[in-house]
Amino acid sequence: MSARLIDGKTLAEELRTAFKARVAALAARGQRPGLAVILIGEDPASQVYVRNKVNACEAAGLFSQKLVYPVDVAQAEVLAKLAELNADPAIHGILVQLPLPRHFDEKAVLEAIAPAKDVDGFHAENAGALAQGAPRFIPCTPYGVMKMLEANGIDPAGREAVVIGRSNIVGKPMALLLINAGATVTVCHSRTRDLAAHTRRADILVAAVGKPRFVTADMVKPGAVVIDVGINRLPPEEGGKLCGDVDFNAVKDVAALITPVPGGVGPMTITMLLANTIEAAEREAGRGGDKRHA
Ligand code: NDP
Repeated sequence: MSARLIDGKTLAEELRTAFKARVAALAARGQRPGLAVILIGEDPASQVYVRNKVNACEAAGLFSQKLVYPVDVAQAEVLAKLAELNADPAIHGILVQLPLPRHFDEKAVLEAIAPAKDVDGFHAENAGALAQGAPRFIPCTPYGVMKMLEANGIDPAGREAVVIGRSNIVGKPMALLLINAGATVTVCHSRTRDLAAHTRRADILVAAVGKPRFVTADMVKPGAVVIDVGINRLPPEEGGKLCGDVDFNAVKDVAALITPVPGGVGPMTITMLLANTIEAAEREAGRGGDKRHA
């Protein structure tokens, strides 16, 4: 039997359509949500991600500002720009595209973003709020996954959920969201012994590993919901296409629901960035915020 697809592309489009009314309501109050994106260096994947984020902002009627720095820029210069953006009333959300060049202290950069504008949700204050079950901004990728579960009628409460990956960007916040939603959560990583014994118990299996086709059919419980966060570029000899962390063609015959790559989690990530930026602007408007870029 073949699994039903969880279509992230269509859901992302539906959500973006729904955002229009919120952006219009802000415009009626003289407000336009504004996102500043900082890109350091010339990593090709980062360039694509930043371009997609900026384009998505434009399409949704948001104001966006892209700030590009050479790879050898001094950290102090970026921190000074962040301080400026923190104080800029036209900017409601700030994100620094990761990964950063080696000479940067990632923690220091992320902590320099005002928590109220930290739309990626990576600031320690926001990570702590999520851990306590009262999030201010939910990191976009796991937020998108939760929206996909919700839209497909999957309530994590009482289910066994297994997350492969423990990064601060995906794995950890994903696990926290599933815990907050009532799932019994296991987090696996490179030190996990007998990974398949864990994954085979999962009613909901989330793969955020960064290894193409890592999750094979024998690792999946029949009838499971499989969420593939991975975005991997296959080598030219294998066609050079994008590929997830899940062996889709084999796993779709075991799972009940599965996300494709591309067209699954990817489009949801940028959508939730828009959601967080609009939310930040709405909060500011609630406090009687500014009228620039209206
Ligand atoms: P990281 O490299 O930061 O984390 C990967 C995780 O996988 C680590 O926790 C690592 O364990 C674990 N891991 C590695 N090898 C194994 C193994 N053999 N067995 C079990 N666990 C293993 O990656 P990210 O979390 O940033 O991203 C994960 C994937 O998701 C990537 O493909 C990335 O491109 C993609 N991604 C997709 C997004 C989207 O919008 N769809 C957004 C962000 C990321 P350990 O901690 O022990 O090293």
